[in-house]
Amino acid sequence: MKIGRVSYQGRERLALIDEAKNKAFVIEGGLGTEADPVLAVIQRGLKEADILALTNDVVDLDRLRFLAPIPRPLRNIFAVGKNYIDHSAEFDKSGFNATSGKSAIPEYPQFFSKATTTVIGPTDDVLFSPLVTKAIDYEGEIAVVIGRECRRASRESALDFVFGYMAVNDVTARDLQKNHAQWFLGKSLDTFCPMGPWIATADEITPETLRLETWVNGELRQRAQLKDLIFDIRRLIVDLSACLTLLPGDIIATGTPVGVGLGQTPPKFLNDGDRVRVSVNGLGSLENRFRQI
Ligand code: MG
Repeated sequence: MKIGRVSYQGRERLALIDEAKNKAFVIEGGLGTEADPVLAVIQRGLKEADILALTNDVVDLDRLRFLAPIPRPLRNIFAVGKNYIDHSAEFDKSGFNATSGKSAIPEYPQFFSKATTTVIGPTDDVLFSPLVTKAIDYEGEIAVVIGRECRRASRESALDFVFGYMAVNDVTARDLQKNHAQWFLGKSLDTFCPMGPWIATADEITPETLRLETWVNGELRQRAQLKDLIFDIRRLIVDLSACLTLLPGDIIATGTPVGVGLGQTPPKFLNDGDRVRVSVNGLGSLENRFRQI
């Protein structure tokens, strides 16, 4: 199933999406009106039939505004730096990598996290102040959403813990990333994690077939396949869960491919009014305007 949150007739609701028919089942009452209903579905292990058994309206998608599927994650969003070979090279060459090592290609996954207050919906504005950053960049990515508690997963079992997949934009302030010589701060500004429009559950997604595209003001900047990750989803879950317990609803952004703004010659950072679109087959598109405050 494809599951998300929508604004419908001025109210926020849980929804199941039928992309082929361009319709959604908008859930009324009970679960549908909870503050974080997708997280509730994951935590309770509810299935598509459980949700469709609730009272719902069938609504054309163009009458809905999609919201962040998980607006208040339980804890920080996990993310991975330098997880595509060509992006690793462009990042190390850029002069913005204060953590650059001997080799552009990491030997182990490089994890960091983004504060929960970064989360916004797939059409919300990303807000920034030039007093704080003058080097804002996009990172189109595919995220994994964890479905059940996970400790010390094996490669064989790792995908059993996946609830589904979702598109995200790991928006980054490159100057903060460089000046503070770490990734957390420059990744954690409020509104810097647009996500959605929905989560597609693992039963309908073959991760290796996912393809990502990022467009800036209509110009294609990134195009990649998830199968080109240096550290695949199994490896990310194995390494994280070896150290800490992954919880239902945890989000892992798997890394961005080549083509970010800092990799352009000269670098092209985002300005007031720019629009960034991230599209993934089966996961829909998010498109956010960048707005100076
Ligand atoms: Mg990233």
